[in-house]
Amino acid sequence: MLPDTILFASKNKGKIHEVQNLFAPIGITILGLYDVEEIADIEETGSTFEENAFIKAAEVRKITGLPVMGDDSGLVVEQLNGAPGIHSARFSGLDATEALNNSKLLNALSGFPEPHKAKYVCAAVYLDAGHSLCTIGEVHGKIVNTAKGTGGFGYDPYFIPDGYQITMAELPLSEKNIISHRGIAFRELYEKIKQLY
Ligand code: IMP
Repeated sequence: MLPDTILFASKNKGKIHEVQNLFAPIGITILGLYDVEEIADIEETGSTFEENAFIKAAEVRKITGLPVMGDDSGLVVEQLNGAPGIHSARFSGLDATEALNNSKLLNALSGFPEPHKAKYVCAAVYLDAGHSLCTIGEVHGKIVNTAKGTGGFGYDPYFIPDGYQITMAELPLSEKNIISHRGIAFRELYEKIKQLY
């Protein structure tokens, strides 16, 4: 039977909020790692978004035994040869903050001409007894030099999706979820989960 509750293997409040928003209309409750027993930070030792999403989901499933979803996501910038990529969360080092990551990004791009083409990528994984699924979502756009908007999280104030004149942080969450890498990956994941039960 389709589970009515799935544990999302993340402590990122922005991501948890987005995934809860995606699954609420379907009637599936999404718990984040703050809702369960203390789970130590999981080292992301993979070299791709898919590998890291599996590592996080598998560890949390091993500890809790619950149906688990995990994701790994990040920003891939063409002029930076794909950086920050899988290192997006810790781009500015171990004590990274969103502000430090963003300023490192702008500094790195300051020597390059515009447009700074980029994409967000999300690998989404589902694990339950005998089941293992993975989907990928991408949204293309560009990085701009001035922050705009207060929605979203991470690099959103500097990311303008293709076809838009405003940043991801200026979009309402409902619209970000329609076009975003995470929205695309998790909607496809849900379609695949439904076929399992
Ligand atoms: P993860 O938690 O290891 O998957 O790292 C994700 C990191 O990628 C975040 O901390 C952000 O820096 C960046 N990122 C991923 N998705 C988004 C998004 O939707 N908006 C802004 N930044 C994002």
